[in-house]
Amino acid sequence: MTITMAERLSKLPPYLFAKIDALKAEAIKNGINIIDLGVGDPDLPTPLHIQEKMKSAVEDAENHRYPSYQGMPAFRETVASFYKKRFQVDLDPQKEVLSLIGSKEGIAHTPLAFLNEGDFCLVPDPGYPVYKAATILAGGKVYQVPLLLENQFLPDYEKIPIDILNKAKLLFINYPNNPTSATADPDFFQRTVDFAKKNEIIICHDAAYSEMTYDDYQAPSFLQVQGAKEVGIEFHSLSKTYNMTGWRVGFAVGNPQIIAALGKVKTNIDSGIFQAIQVAGIEALTGNQDCVQEMRGIYKERRDLLCQGLESLGLKVEKPKATFYLWIQIPEGKDSEGFALHLLKEAGIICTPGTGFGDYGEGFIRMALTVPQNRLCEVVERIRKVL
Ligand SMILES: *Cc1c(COP(=O)(O)O)cnc(C)c1O
Repeated sequence: MTITMAERLSKLPPYLFAKIDALKAEAIKNGINIIDLGVGDPDLPTPLHIQEKMKSAVEDAENHRYPSYQGMPAFRETVASFYKKRFQVDLDPQKEVLSLIGSKEGIAHTPLAFLNEGDFCLVPDPGYPVYKAATILAGGKVYQVPLLLENQFLPDYEKIPIDILNKAKLLFINYPNNPTSATADPDFFQRTVDFAKKNEIIICHDAAYSEMTYDDYQAPSFLQVQGAKEVGIEFHSLSKTYNMTGWRVGFAVGNPQIIAALGKVKTNIDSGIFQAIQVAGIEALTGNQDCVQEMRGIYKERRDLLCQGLESLGLKVEKPKATFYLWIQIPEGKDSEGFALHLLKEAGIICTPGTGFGDYGEGFIRMALTVPQNRLCEVVERIRKVL
């Protein structure tokens, strides 16, 4: 019999990373020593005290059964305390906190809760690919909101056409930003709240990198600004802060009706996070935070080294205040996919072409600071030879 896929699958954008994966496999087969700066996945292990907590939690039979859908009360209370302490934001752990099987899961399910056929979702471009894919899977339409260098990679709400605004239900934003590593100040969040109220658009702020910051920079929460909880939610994750990408634990916080709607979708699809992982998550958020400071120190050194190296080659890159990404302008006259493939074939370096994150990513490549310093020195030397 013929297997035919639903049309919605063919509407998904081509998976650029598949092509890179294939070329990577080929390069490895040919004995090329690859340096992979492509994926945003920490190379360091989950801190030991979190691992230890997990071990004991696994042995507790109480944790083996179905967890509660919204997350254990203790987990949600921990999240509320974290928000109070870190952002001075008050949250009701019963109604304004929802556990997620990684924030990607919550982001992917949100459009299902709010978009009717043909409704628009405003998606940052370049941006984390899940916003767009989830909109398409939910039957919604994507409007790409350009993030431009000249606007410090913040959306210009004035430029969105009125007929789009009339049909838009959701807006995704993400600061500190992947892939541009741009940050936003509370002023921008306040403008976003005004925009949301005026146009009746739900705001989803993805704060996956709020703790991955350098020097004296502290990232604000969207919920810190006046009126934010009336219009939106914030996604958060333990993945990047505690090197826990494989564990799948995150949460959404904010407007209780939005949280309830997302929860309604989830109760029909998944059954919550393994309780032992929630116990480990509580340990991450409440335990010793030296590990976070250490993580920041390591990425900061890598950031300084690679920025300096790339600049010495004449490449333009802004030193990021947050995230573990460098968003690098490619030399004039090249296109980002071609340049990324050139680096892979000639220098054995994997980075992500900006266009992998959307059309407005053209002219840039992204490098993730997920390899040790000696390898980053090697990256600079290799690029020097092939530029
Ligand atoms: C890594 C990442 C996430 C996903 O994190 P998980 O909690 O591991 O699902 C979400 N948003 C952005 C922008 C990311 O880069």
